Amino acid sequence: MIVMKFGGTSVADAKAIERVMSIVGGRLDKAPVIVVSALSKITDALYKICDFAENGDLIEAGMLVENIRDRHLKLIAELIKDEKYAAEAKTHTDSLCDNLKKLVDVICDLGELSPRSRARIISTGEYLSSGIICCALNAAGIATGFLDARKLIITDDNYLKGEPDIRLISEKVPEIITKAFASLDDGPVSALITQGFVSATEKGVPTVLGRGGSDYSASLIGMAMDSDEIEIWTDVDGVHTADPRKVKDTKSLNAISFREAAEMARSGAKVLHPSTMEPAVGKNIPIKVLNSMNPESKGTVILDESRIPAGVKSVSCKENIRMLNIFSSRVYNSAGFMGRVFSVFGKHHFPFELITVSQGAVSVTLGEDDDLQEMIEELSGFSTVFMETGKSQIAIVGKDMFSAGDVLSRISGVLAGHKIYLMSMGGTGGSLSIVVDRNELDGIIKDLHKVLFTDESGD
Ligand code: ASP
Ligand code: MG
Repeated sequence: MIVMKFGGTSVADAKAIERVMSIVGGRLDKAPVIVVSALSKITDALYKICDFAENGDLIEAGMLVENIRDRHLKLIAELIKDEKYAAEAKTHTDSLCDNLKKLVDVICDLGELSPRSRARIISTGEYLSSGIICCALNAAGIATGFLDARKLIITDDNYLKGEPDIRLISEKVPEIITKAFASLDDGPVSALITQGFVSATEKGVPTVLGRGGSDYSASLIGMAMDSDEIEIWTDVDGVHTADPRKVKDTKSLNAISFREAAEMARSGAKVLHPSTMEPAVGKNIPIKVLNSMNPESKGTVILDESRIPAGVKSVSCKENIRMLNIFSSRVYNSAGFMGRVFSVFGKHHFPFELITVSQGAVSVTLGEDDDLQEMIEELSGFSTVFMETGKSQIAIVGKDMFSAGDVLSRISGVLAGHKIYLMSMGGTGGSLSIVVDRNELDGIIKDLHKVLFTDESGD
């Protein structure tokens, strides 16, 4: 079997979903399990509903619920001509939206919203899209069974970013999916559909996998089923050498390794959720990144590192980061100082990204939103701490990048004359990260991409 995941833009409207249906129709011999995201922008709207409701703003929250209902009802009218399935899709949509409205009323009344209730609300988008697409597939003659992801993807009780329980998932998913394909109740089906992003605790309490988590859902299901392939359908022709919105002349990569893909995702490339590769690696299941707007394009295949050539694969970036610099107040005993710094990081579960260490000084980069007040106070007890803002982080990712050619000198040529705050090489030439001023980022990225990918003679 295969897993096919379709992201929000791939299911944005009736035209997009018709394309999805024809792609699925061409793969029925492979027993596809379809994983869908919410229609594009719906999850954002659901987050807004939560915020309005928490602030007691019943009118705004209620209006957004009705907007969501309207968009889905309009979609059904355009997409499903068969009366029976259209009625079924409409009932499904109305019941989810009525339920959402009820929750909103209660939250507005209480004036508080727990992460647990938030997880329930923000899951609505995937239930809406998967229910409607299931009806549309059946109406088009593709017998498709509907699965509730809360029975498949089991996590801990971190409601908004659940940690998947691999053992339970590996146990439950094959049992449920095999049974559903045989479908003892309504006869066999040729495809199954479920929600991305959505999960639950072992007791069935709703959780989610975190923003963009549908890719992760797909690869967890692929892992549990030992699937032949995990297809991630999106709106670009695979993984590119850089973000096409930032850089001209980017190229789609034919093949990259699990590690390269994970590093790119962690360092800002938006195509895949960073955890997507983890479940696939162990079972060596190829992940394909494909374009539902252009299904003929080859896309990118993500494979085991041994099958991937050496060289630079991409330049990615995180636009807005900060740097925390920590200096020892004393000049001696630097090992003791490091030990103390790291134990404070550990205690506060500090989500740092890059780190450089020198005698008596530690510098780390981090995102813009984390609240570090308490941790900084504790560090200040034995060191001098200062924060720098307005920085960006660039990552050059590849395999064994510096062993051949003049890659390093090309990179230094671009960086000469710019202020560099931190530079860090990861795992034997697998990545190089550089921190620069935010206002220099766009220029540097373009120049790096040019010298690394378009200047090569004969290419
Ligand atoms: N709908 C969710 C989000 O927007 C999950 C996903 O699209 O992967 O974050
Ligand atoms: Mg996505």
